[in-house]
Amino acid sequence: NPNPTRPLISKVRVVVRVRPFLPHEIDEKRGHPISCVSVLDPDIESQEEVTVRLKDQETSRNECYKLDSFFGEEDNNVGQIFLNEVNPLIPEIFRGFNATVFAYGATGSGKTYTMQGTNELPGLMPLAMSTVLSMCHSTGSFVEMSYYEVYMERCYDLLELETQEIAVLEDKDGQTHFRGLSRLRINSMPQFYEVFSCGIQRRKTAHTDLNDVSSRSHGVLVILVSTPSGDDSGAVINGKLNLIDLAGNEDNRRTCNGGKRLQESAKINQSLFALSNVIYALNNNKPRVPYRDSKLTCILQDSLGGGSRALMVACLNPGEYQESVRTVSLAARSRCI
Ligand code: ADP
Ligand code: MG
Repeated sequence: NPNPTRPLISKVRVVVRVRPFLPHEIDEKRGHPISCVSVLDPDIESQEEVTVRLKDQETSRNECYKLDSFFGEEDNNVGQIFLNEVNPLIPEIFRGFNATVFAYGATGSGKTYTMQGTNELPGLMPLAMSTVLSMCHSTGSFVEMSYYEVYMERCYDLLELETQEIAVLEDKDGQTHFRGLSRLRINSMPQFYEVFSCGIQRRKTAHTDLNDVSSRSHGVLVILVSTPSGDDSGAVINGKLNLIDLAGNEDNRRTCNGGKRLQESAKINQSLFALSNVIYALNNNKPRVPYRDSKLTCILQDSLGGGSRALMVACLNPGEYQESVRTVSLAARSRCI
């Protein structure tokens, strides 16, 4: 156990991150947010659990949810989220385990900011890659990456010039294999950024000519680590870390989606619901885990449960009460009974 002082109260940790109000969301003259409908009031009862209270300022309605940890509005706290929540997973990868980190929430809630970050404030994806790379020097391991997206229940390579659908297969040991998915050897952070930013550009415009579909697909960065076992056999230990920017969790009734958009949203909501059901089953020791209910959970079968560790970061927009309730209630529901 890389961090024996922290008790593991659930197999998939669920934490909340609320982003700050953005400049255009604040009334310049009064210095107040234009619509401040939700207030988050974390009540740290014990070190093992926090209660997050969502409050609608207009109606004074409020709801409380119990989660594993809470991160406030400071925009530079991604480093702290990394150190507390993601860093402890990394030594496991070198020991041959798999792990998964999700950013979950509505469009505009800060998922991409949390996972990718900006040039000044790198997100969990580059922070994880940089930590893995520096650990490779001392362990003699090497690193590869894949980057793909799941859109409308299909999987597409983002490291190929022409994004093509990738077939996903499962072997008899329950390991996931991708037919034809690129795996690139990574030696340095500048090289990672070069490859990754090309992939991000592809994700933005794939499948439609102009529209940004990135908020309607799940973007998955995989960091694959191969470590020499150290014994005479010359065997190699393989572990992987999946870092996932999930598609936006939208409420169709509110956004009035029609046609293609409605189809996409239906698929997204199905797959997010399936994910939540899988996490619920794992956290509650259910005998049957419904991995087959969506493409994403099928793909993640070897990285969720069975000795793997996972983290869900539920991202919130501080001005959206109803949306925040949707996000946190599903996150809290996956966490425990
Ligand atoms: P999502 O990926 O969930 O749709 P984004 O990550 O694109 O949301 O964030 C929406 C907007 O909020 C972006 O302009 C982003 O720069 C900003 N933002 C998100 N989180 C933060 C944060 N913690 N601090 C400052 N700005 C943020
Ligand atoms: Mg996004």
